Formats: sequence, structure tokens, C-alpha cells
Amino acid sequence: MIKKYDYIICGAGLSGLILSHKIINDRYFDNKSVLIIDKDLSHRDHKTWCFWEEKESIWNDYVVKAWSNICFKSTNIVKETHLENITYKMIKSVFFFESIINKIKNEKNFTIIEDEIVEIKESNVVKVKTKSNEFESDFIFNSLFDLNTLKSSYPLLIQHFKGWTIKTDYEFFNDDVATIMDFSINQKNDTRFFYVLPISKNKALVEFTLFSKSFLADEEYDLELKKYIKKLGIKSYVVDEKEKGAIPMTCHPFEKNNSNKIINIGTAGGWTKPSSGYTFKFVDKNCEKVIKFLKEKKSSKKISFKTRHWIYDLIFLHVLYTKNNLGKNLFEKMFAKNKTELVLRFLDNDTSIKEEINIASSFPKILFTKSLFQNIGKILNYYF
Ligand SMILES: Cc1cc2nc3c(=O)[nH]c(=O)nc-3n(C[C@H](O)[C@H](O)[C@H](O)COP(=O)(O)OP(=O)(O)OC[C@H]3O[C@@H](n4cnc5c(N)ncnc54)[C@H](O)[C@@H]3O)c2cc1C
Repeated sequence: MIKKYDYIICGAGLSGLILSHKIINDRYFDNKSVLIIDKDLSHRDHKTWCFWEEKESIWNDYVVKAWSNICFKSTNIVKETHLENITYKMIKSVFFFESIINKIKNEKNFTIIEDEIVEIKESNVVKVKTKSNEFESDFIFNSLFDLNTLKSSYPLLIQHFKGWTIKTDYEFFNDDVATIMDFSINQKNDTRFFYVLPISKNKALVEFTLFSKSFLADEEYDLELKKYIKKLGIKSYVVDEKEKGAIPMTCHPFEKNNSNKIINIGTAGGWTKPSSGYTFKFVDKNCEKVIKFLKEKKSSKKISFKTRHWIYDLIFLHVLYTKNNLGKNLFEKMFAKNKTELVLRFLDNDTSIKEEINIASSFPKILFTKSLFQNIGKILNYYF
């Protein structure tokens, strides 16, 4: 007999685990049976997630470092900001995964299994087929996503990056300040920057990031990392940890794939901010929405995660897709002409229309107005 659960979460990555964490912490779900499936529960690959939020938060137990000062750098500006009410935080995925998976294993209503999902099929219930089993549920949360199979009429840039956590045998870094973007490097006709996140005075994550249409050869990332570390003035160091990744930057309407039985979450749900690649905070916010939605039992309706910031992302990405070399200039203008906290709230989709108009006026008007008109069809199609 096929085993049935109240909810099945496909993928125990960032979004699957944040959703599980919220379900565990809400007594409403104590009697709901939850199955979570992932093909690899060991999660050995290092990922460092950063985001900004208020100082106090449920995620602080997992935060390895938080900064009250952040810096934006480019050829024409160096802007350091002391953040008043928020901090820039760093979470290491290996510890995060291990802690939450252990939590899940202690919950009576949760079952967690390691198996590969081969099919998710919707009829009057949803069937999830794995390599060795089959399960049923009325509600599926799906975070399975493959960048290589994404077909879309929307511009797609890839945020690709490689980072090294380096250690020096002398005190070099100012670990009170996180450099979130440093564009003062050769752009080579792309949008390229580094970030430097000092964990201590002799240890930092240095990451080389591009927003572009295609990947570089592996040795090119290494070469740029070496060059940049040398430019910082670091004479000798060891590489303690390496990470690399690729995130889709697109306004593709992932939400249209949701039904009233299947909700796509995480990157698969379009929860990665198209213009920045930041995902953690949006997963957190959207999982709150999912919890509220489930408790209100609106199961016959579709849940919506739409915000008007999607339109700004669409216009911005279209510009960046057609003129990829402009990224440095656009980010420089945004940070130079606006208060850093406002920029951060804008990137969090948390601004008023008045504030959004102010931010928009930082960008080249003709170029952005043209992009708006070129995308009118897509905007109407998305909303109606
Ligand atoms: C190196 C790196 C650094 C990043 N840094 C940041 C950052 O600083 N800030 C930020 O906000 N975001 C960051 N991101 C982006 C984002 O936070 C992550 O990509 C995040 O992991 C996305 O969460 P997700 O749940 O959508 O996908 P994932 O975390 O990838 O989860 C999907 C899960 O599905 C499983 N799976 C896939 N296929 C199957 C299958 N067929 N059967 C069973 N299981 C399957 C996978 O094993 C995986 O565990 C970073 C990403 C990477 C890769």
C-alpha cells in the first residue's frame, strides 16, 4: 500500500529545511505527518549564505559571524555604512543542514529519507515516486530545480561564483567590516565583482562573482581570485575551504507552475531575487506565507508570492542582459545616490512606492524607460 502523508517536502536543501523548521516550531502542525526526501542528506558541499536582517532573529543560533558595518566599493566610490538596526549575517550550510536535519529526526510526526525522486505526478492526490518507493500527499512542497533544463522566454543571467576561505599567518583583515561588493576590477565586458567577508583578523571568505550569460573555465576563477588577493596586499595565505555555485537570475514566472496541491519553493519557486541572487531571506519570508496559508486552510486557492518588485527586477535584468557591461555602473549609481539602508530594503522588496521612485531615478532614464516599454507584454501577462 502506498504510504500517505499530510505534507511531502521534496528536497532537504535550504528551503525544504527552513519550511520544516517553521512547521516544527508551530504547534498547529503537531498532528500533521510530514515526509521530507533528499537524494543526498550528507550535504558535504560548503555553501556560505549571507543576508541582512534585524539583530535578533531565530537564525542567530546558526550565524557564524555578523557585521554592523558594510562596505560597497567600485572604481569611483568606497562607501562604508554603519548599520543601525540590522546586521549582515553569515551562515555556513554544513552546520545549518546538520543541525536542522538532527532536529527533524527527533520529531515524531516527521520522516526523513535519503532517496532520489524520479517523478512527481498530480491527480486527485499527488504521487511522489522515488527510485525505491512511492508516496502520496494532498500537499507537496517541491524544491527540485535544474538550471540546465530551464527553458524560458525571459532573459536569463547566471550568477556564478567561486570563493576561497583564506587564512593568513598574521593579522590582516578588519573583521568589523564586510565588503559586500567590490567592482574595482576589470569587468571584461561582464558584470564582475568580489566580496570579502572577514570572519576574524586572519581569516576571510573572498568570493569572485559574475552576473553573466555563460560560465568561465575553472582555472579563470582561480586566476582572478589569486590576482585579487594579491591586489589586497596579502603576501602569504592558505586556502582553508572552497565553494562554488551558480544561481539563476531571471524573472521567469516560476509561480505559474504552482497548483493548489503543489507549491514550488526555494529557487524552484522563483524565490531567488532575480536582480541580486540573494535567496535566504526570501525563503524565510515566503515560508512564513506558506505556514499562514496552510493554517488558513485555503487549500482550494493558489498561494501567491507576487510583489511589484518583480517588475523592477524584470526591467533591471533586461538592461543587464542586453548591456552586461553596465552592471558596475548601475550598482555604483544605486549605492552612491541612495542611503545604504534604503538600497538594502529595496533589494529585500521592502520599500514604499515613493522610495522606489527615488531609487529608480538613480538609473539612466531613457534606457530604463525603454526597457519598461519593451517588457509591457510580459508584465501584463504575469499579472492578468
Ligand atoms: C555556494 C553558494 C553560495 C550562496 N550564497 C548565498 C548567499 O550568500 N545568500 C543568499 O541569500 N543565497 C545564496 N545562495 C543561493 C541560495 O541560498 C542557495 O542556492 C539555496 O541553497 C537555494 O535553496 P533551495 O532550497 O532552492 O535549493 P537547494 O538548497 O539546492 O535544495 C534542493 C535540494 O533538492 C535535492 N534534490 C535535487 N534533486 C533531487 C532529486 N531528484 N531527488 C531528491 N532530492 C533532490 C538536493 O540534494 C538539494 O538538497 C548561494 C548558493 C550557493 C550554491
